[in-house]
Amino acid sequence: MPYKWPANTDFAFWELDVIDRACPACGRMMYICDHRYRRLHTLDGPVQLVCKLNHCPDRLCAGHARTKSPELEVTIAPPSWAIGWDVFCWIGHRRCSRHMSIPHIQSELQDDYAIKLSEDAIAKYIRRYQAMLAARQQDPEALRRQYESVSEIVLSIDGLQPEKGHETLYVVRELTQKRVWFAEALISATANEVQRLIAKAKDWATSLNKTVSLWISDKQDAFVTGIAAEFPDVPHRYCDNHFLRDLAKPVLEADSHAKVQMRRKVRGLRKIEQAALKQQNADMSTSLRDDPEATVTVIVGPANGPSLAADSANTVVLEYCAAVRGILNDDQGGPLHPPGLRMAEALKEVRESIQRNLDAKKGDSQKSNSAVWADALTGDWSTSKPSKSQSESTSRTSTRWPQPLNLKVGDARIARRSSRG
Ligand SMILES: [Zn+2]
Repeated sequence: MPYKWPANTDFAFWELDVIDRACPACGRMMYICDHRYRRLHTLDGPVQLVCKLNHCPDRLCAGHARTKSPELEVTIAPPSWAIGWDVFCWIGHRRCSRHMSIPHIQSELQDDYAIKLSEDAIAKYIRRYQAMLAARQQDPEALRRQYESVSEIVLSIDGLQPEKGHETLYVVRELTQKRVWFAEALISATANEVQRLIAKAKDWATSLNKTVSLWISDKQDAFVTGIAAEFPDVPHRYCDNHFLRDLAKPVLEADSHAKVQMRRKVRGLRKIEQAALKQQNADMSTSLRDDPEATVTVIVGPANGPSLAADSANTVVLEYCAAVRGILNDDQGGPLHPPGLRMAEALKEVRESIQRNLDAKKGDSQKSNSAVWADALTGDWSTSKPSKSQSESTSRTSTRWPQPLNLKVGDARIARRSSRG
């Protein structure tokens, strides 16, 4: 379907002449016999091409019945396309290199270049781009040019499943130039079939006259036997990515087990929070008794009275609870930063922070919620028996709260509480 241009489109006019005007049949100078008008999108805006067509003036010459188009025309756009090569390459690159979806490409073209194309049209151009790319990838001349300065090559083979349920696509890549050499879908990936692909890679390497210094794969059986048969003296190594992925599974399993153990040890948050809130509410009603009409917002700051001091202590306890809850629920981190290790480090920081508070208020005897806390957290959860120092530390309590928290555990802070009387 021809492209519909809006009536007010502002085109740039490009006039193209035939440069070599000698008739290809008789060599006489050709004349302009017609004009072809074309409109197309470029990244610099819409363009109207005026192509001057030439033919031989001699009616008896074979060059008379045929016209010659300006040589430059195909370098701007292939015949009958509504976009130039620049737009075409832009689309192909966004799709093949950036993996953008068609609607995404469509909206970027519209927003950045005011080029309006249908999804169907973009899909059609992408198919053509892929066909050209595949042809170029396998062009032996282009390959030879690329490998001119390379002395040794490293090959890899892997099976990919483009979509679930489809046959596996076996891809042979050369890693020094990061280039896909070829890919074939094998319905039954028997050892013989796979070896045929490896033999094909050998043919390519031979025709390029290059030494294969290494093969890399996930070492599935067919690869191991096929490579050993075709490249008996070439080392065959595990692919880092596959190796790490296979290693990650047992690491994450062990880590998950460790997390369960830590969660089992650090318990009773709810109980501690309830006790702290209960005491806060009790303090509140005491202070409200003086002025029952007032709406009170409790501001936690420098303690200037006994009830405010107790309240800020409770607030600190609640913040510790929130921090610990955040730590226990944090599942971020992959096999290289296992979540259990992160959890252990964060809980250790909390324990040290609490210990600093306990050390700072030695000698005071007033009972506070911190005692319960210390009980839950100062113990070392990597050992199952409670230590002696733990039971000692729980006996030290005081009202010299709050000590500055030194937590690096993210967003687990509890909002300041306010109440209405
Ligand atoms: Zn002629």
